[in-house]
Amino acid sequence: MNMSGDQIREGLRNDEFIPFFQPVVTLHTGEVAGVEVLARWQHGSLGIVPPGAFIAIAEQEGLIGELTAMLVWKAFTAARMLPDPQWLAINISPHLLRDLTLPKRIREAAEAAAFPLNRLVIEITESALVENLEHAQTISRELRAQGCRLALDDFGTGYSSLLHLQSLPFDELKVDRSFVGSMTERRESRKIVSAVVGLGQSLGLETIAEGVETQEQAEMLLALGCEMGQGWLFGRPVPAEQLSDVTIARPAVKLRLTSSFWRDI
Ligand code: C2E
Ligand code: MG
Ligand code: MG
Ligand code: MG
Repeated sequence: MNMSGDQIREGLRNDEFIPFFQPVVTLHTGEVAGVEVLARWQHGSLGIVPPGAFIAIAEQEGLIGELTAMLVWKAFTAARMLPDPQWLAINISPHLLRDLTLPKRIREAAEAAAFPLNRLVIEITESALVENLEHAQTISRELRAQGCRLALDDFGTGYSSLLHLQSLPFDELKVDRSFVGSMTERRESRKIVSAVVGLGQSLGLETIAEGVETQEQAEMLLALGCEMGQGWLFGRPVPAEQLSDVTIARPAVKLRLTSSFWRDI
């Protein structure tokens, strides 16, 4: 399903875009480190529409700024109840990294909603960064100067990932779920995850594995030195009304040393 620009404009007028929240868990303790904001469209007749059906179109139609502003405002307001030091991560389209006023806008929204900037993580997907590398650098530095942390999202799927890693001041690396999903079956995926975690460690970055669905994956990630995980194993994205359920600690991931899978990692 793909929505049109006009439908998105209509959705914006009707205030139909809402944030969902998904926990990110510190694997060895089970504590919730923070939550990621994921866009949903609460459509009048279609119900809840996922971001795959509208983010790219909103970007093409020049509507992503307005959509992000709507979401971020609602997310900040809801996130005031997050226990300190849990952070909030928002996805920022690379298209918005052309706009030098972005850091100021984010700061003003956070201040107006009384959400502390030093508990905000900005997730940037690598795909379209390179055309604006200088602007992206200026904006990233400013975001960090105002206390925000930066995460490189979906690492390993875009192109020029390593160039971005070298050029922008990231604090976190998110390992794409396509590698995590197959890591217990495929040796290649396992080796890639292992190398990415090692790369993150050597650059002093925290690593977050996306799409953790099974206990086995969580154990393997822990064994590989990955610090944090996000996925259905720990909790699905939920609306603001259920945010307080999401912030509660999960059982810590424990290595079962008798399992055979982890011999070959
Ligand atoms: P992402 O930032 O990499 O977000 C993670 C995606 O993986 C989310 O999909 C989440 O629901 C899904 N996911 C989490 N755990 C699991 C799991 O265990 N198994 C599986 N199969 N999937 C899992 P979602 O919510 O459909 O979002 C897709 C993408 O849309 C996001 O990927 C992000 O790139 C983009 N997006 C979402 N919200 C926004 C937004 O507000 N602004 C922008 N620019 N992009 C957004
Ligand atoms: Mg993300
Ligand atoms: Mg991601
Ligand atoms: Mg992803």
